[in-house]
Amino acid sequence: MLGEKAGKIFEYIYKRLDEVQDEEIARELGLKLNEVRKLLYQLSEQGLVSYRRVRDKSTSWYTYYWRVRKDEIPSLIQFRKKITLSKLKLRLKAEESTTYYECPVDKTRYSFDEALENEFRCPRCGSQLVYVDNSDIIDVLKKYIALLEREIAQKG
Ligand SMILES: [Zn+2]
Repeated sequence: MLGEKAGKIFEYIYKRLDEVQDEEIARELGLKLNEVRKLLYQLSEQGLVSYRRVRDKSTSWYTYYWRVRKDEIPSLIQFRKKITLSKLKLRLKAEESTTYYECPVDKTRYSFDEALENEFRCPRCGSQLVYVDNSDIIDVLKKYIALLEREIAQKG
């Protein structure tokens, strides 16, 4: 959801089972400190990590200690599943309510209305558009939706 680097940072803190300084994460993962801090803030905005700030009395600089918010993880996974589910349902609705046409050359898909508007010719290259049978996509979407609904129901 946040990219590969954020995932690595999260994994690193998660495995340490303790507070970790951002300097250490940058050093161990071979990333720039600024980048690590930026990604850590993004992770904290998502509620995945939290931090504790300690001020050094001599330099008056802050040191940040990061930890994984394990208590938040189950509800977060549930939340993500619900978002995915609603996206899949929208996609299914679109697939079921529209017929699609495709350019055989550049593989661009067009809805029936778009195809009609362009007299069933690809607006990019002028090829004749062909009807797309999306029943396979609909089947896969339905199966995935059913699976997610079961998983969400089980967690209550
Ligand atoms: Zn085309």
